[in-house]
Amino acid sequence: MKKSLQIKKENRHWLDQLNLDNPFLIAGPCSAETEEQVLLTAQALIEVRPSFFRAGIWKPRTRPGGFEGVGEKGLPWLEKVRKDFNLKVATEVGNAYHVEKALKHNIDLLWIGARTTVNPFAVQEIAEALRGTDKIVLVKNPVNPDLSLWLGGIERIKSVGIQNLGAVHRGFSSYETLYYRNKPEWHIPIELKKEFPQLPLILDPSHICGRRDAILDTSQTALDLNYDGLMIETHLDPDSAWSDSKQQISPIELIDLMNLIVIPQATSNKKTFQQKLDIFRSELDVIDNNLIELLNERMSVSQVIGHLKQQENVAILQSDRWGKTLPLLIKEAENKGLNQEFITEIFKRVHVESIKIQRKKK
Ligand code: PEP
Ligand code: MN
Repeated sequence: MKKSLQIKKENRHWLDQLNLDNPFLIAGPCSAETEEQVLLTAQALIEVRPSFFRAGIWKPRTRPGGFEGVGEKGLPWLEKVRKDFNLKVATEVGNAYHVEKALKHNIDLLWIGARTTVNPFAVQEIAEALRGTDKIVLVKNPVNPDLSLWLGGIERIKSVGIQNLGAVHRGFSSYETLYYRNKPEWHIPIELKKEFPQLPLILDPSHICGRRDAILDTSQTALDLNYDGLMIETHLDPDSAWSDSKQQISPIELIDLMNLIVIPQATSNKKTFQQKLDIFRSELDVIDNNLIELLNERMSVSQVIGHLKQQENVAILQSDRWGKTLPLLIKEAENKGLNQEFITEIFKRVHVESIKIQRKKK
């Protein structure tokens, strides 16, 4: 693989120090299952040479009864990967005890899982246990789409003096059944980037997708958004994995994926490029302003309808009409080549706002 990820140099100490020729990549199984599985996977990954080899030792399962990880007996297996294959190793920590054991066994990178980031007590406990270490610590986004919790998790780790910090975007759970296991909600990591511009941001497409066939596309989207790297669950025999079997890919598939993704440049200094970009951006600004104007007009009409209904003492929500209008709008949008899910979300939101406005008393 000849591709190199264009990493902006300012303050990117730990990423810089890795001197990567390839994209930053964490690869390895969701869970360490047996010593043999861990070592054979590491061996199979030698060709792709990930920056870190991952394996979950302690597995937080949503419901009891699932495979909860092999526990600390798996840590020496990771040490063996480190020694025999000269690969840096990574695992998830969920409490102070995990941190203590992981540090003792020379784990190079520790990540805080999505189910832990939701809990400030747990994150604080982990932060205290990490105090003084120069290991790399990554904070996954919380399971729920809450930017503050994610920021809070990062701040807690930062506040004990951890320098080598990063964030992992693994998607957010949602009540609806979706194409994705965890909705990407791309705007949330983009907001995170605004708060911490220098913080490396890694995508975990495996937990976002929950399915193999979407991993390449999702990874490419992230790289197009200037993410700094990927964490991809890789298993020798994905279908028989003890956890997350549907989303893991084989080492061969990982090689293919890494060859297929295209690494964009962070930016270009070419004058013609900048000029063209400026023109298109002004065009977007005009369209965005028109959208606001149209929304304003739409809400004014909603207000008039609201008054009319109040005068007649008619219920505000007319499910009949909404049930007929939405499919027509979706069809129209589809004819124009717009994404169905996107349009549905927008109109649902507009409808809720419209109801709110209609309920306002004159
Ligand atoms: C994992 O990386 O295997 C894991 C449990 O991830 P998450 O915390 O994102 O669910
Ligand atoms: Mn997993």
